[in-house]
Amino acid sequence: MRKQIAAANWKMNLSLLQAEELVKALLETDLLLNEKQLAIFGVPFPYILPVKQLLNGKKNVFVTAQNCSANKNGAYTGETSAEMLESIGLKYVIIGHSERREYHHENNAELAQKVNIAMDHHLQPIFCCGESLPIREAGTQNSYVEIQLKESLFHLSADQIRNFIIAYEPIWAIGTGKTASSEQAQEMHAFIRSVMAAQYGQEIADTISILYGGSVKGANAVEIFGQPDVDGGLVGGASLVATEFAAIINSLKK
Ligand code: PEP
Repeated sequence: MRKQIAAANWKMNLSLLQAEELVKALLETDLLLNEKQLAIFGVPFPYILPVKQLLNGKKNVFVTAQNCSANKNGAYTGETSAEMLESIGLKYVIIGHSERREYHHENNAELAQKVNIAMDHHLQPIFCCGESLPIREAGTQNSYVEIQLKESLFHLSADQIRNFIIAYEPIWAIGTGKTASSEQAQEMHAFIRSVMAAQYGQEIADTISILYGGSVKGANAVEIFGQPDVDGGLVGGASLVATEFAAIINSLKK
């Protein structure tokens, strides 16, 4: 079975003390991860090392950055490179979150560069895609998401795409409390897998973990994650509450 993943996206929230308390509270709950299940914490840059330290030695639990620069190094004030993230021992990085696309104008071509530079530095991207409400209402979400995948990922080789991680996050469901129904999630996840299969073959497409993001919480995670093409979630708001995120982790497919 491909990897089942609960990924937290803390965004720009919490003080260091609150972050440490959240992680400690989570570690006090029973996190039941088998060898195919991962928990990944997407934390703000200043907390990567302290959180990593707290999680040290926990099997299948990782820390990730929420972004990296498309550039290698140099005069890019305020940016953080993939090389830096590799140098502190990270294995994952979130790329192309809809908030980066909207507020920082990241487009598919720039995201392709970020994917490349991350992979050059042995970071597995958690690549986000997903449509806005007007696109969903117009019924053109499939072609919109297909273009996001084509323009940012299709230059990769089959070897690079094996075990890749894609997060489908309908923008209309992020932070709104409005979750896509489990049928809507399954429909889009199956479509994404079919797009990847058409390009790379079914065997490779079946290794890709496709996470759902958009108002996932403890109460709806079992139903959403139970869909055949949903391999876990990328979770914002509910990842800031220890008991909620613990319930989400424990809802991953066994
Ligand atoms: C997200 O930011 O990736 C997200 C899915 O947020 P929320 O769970 O709060 O909708």
